[in-house]
Amino acid sequence: MNDRGYDYLDIYTTGYVKAKGLLLENKLYIDLPGTRLGQKIAVPRKRSKRIAGVTVGQKDAQTARLTITLKRTIDYDIVNVFGRDKSVIEIGDRLDNIFERQVAAEKVYFRQKARALKPVELAPTAARPAAKLRGRTIVLDPGHGGDDPGAQCGGGWPEKELTLDTARRAADLLRAAGARVLLTRNEDRRSNLYDVVDFANRSGADIFVSIHYNATYSGGIAGSESYYYNPASRRFAAVLHEAIVRGLDRRDRGLHRVGFYTVRNVRMPSVLLEPAYLSNRDEHALINSAAFREKVAAAIAQGVSNYF
Ligand SMILES: [Zn+2]
Repeated sequence: MNDRGYDYLDIYTTGYVKAKGLLLENKLYIDLPGTRLGQKIAVPRKRSKRIAGVTVGQKDAQTARLTITLKRTIDYDIVNVFGRDKSVIEIGDRLDNIFERQVAAEKVYFRQKARALKPVELAPTAARPAAKLRGRTIVLDPGHGGDDPGAQCGGGWPEKELTLDTARRAADLLRAAGARVLLTRNEDRRSNLYDVVDFANRSGADIFVSIHYNATYSGGIAGSESYYYNPASRRFAAVLHEAIVRGLDRRDRGLHRVGFYTVRNVRMPSVLLEPAYLSNRDEHALINSAAFREKVAAAIAQGVSNYF
């Protein structure tokens, strides 16, 4: 059979259903809200380069779930076919090598001289005993800073400004929920990642979130990606990735295990977020809007709250 670079899965439902996807490493979950499995579900078996297997079940009483086990790194899309009670899941090969490039870029700055870390501690603003995140300490790490601008695409702010603004917004929401927040920087400053990790490990924090915005060579690539490394971070990273995907409604580019320095070396559940792409025209405009960054911040706060 001629493989055109994609697999297609057709899902037939009785009535209109808006399918929701979630890509967590080699598992793609497709949830069908408001549905129950019928008596007889046929899962056709076709040979595929990308799909190892498909299982169906109920996630809960209201939601049917397809679990697709993958053989390789993929991109996917869900198309709801208008006027027909059918959704099409399109699964294609992921063609870029962003992870390797980003890890390589990180190493360049790691070797250069940087300024001493100047973290700030922000007390909770909600003193209510019932505040959801009371007693929790969260490290937020705005990516880049100083002579490392991060991604710069077209006009608008460089990544380092956007990550700082997003971290400040997330800090406000987390503090309002009762958490103590530690920012690894609260100014335009580049410090060595070694110091970031050392600070986080001495802080006694419960979790660590590094905030970035993505960029790549192709303007056509867009969506939300998240990374973790240590197995102990897996649940936190999955919960946060889901909150980002649901909160922003961009293309879900998946949770991946990649050894970025911070998430590899901090000794607490940690995740590195890339909620959208500065190199994509639509997402560049979104990221440069305060409303979108507030949405990112809200998704982070929601994810943290879901985790605890
Ligand atoms: Zn970055």
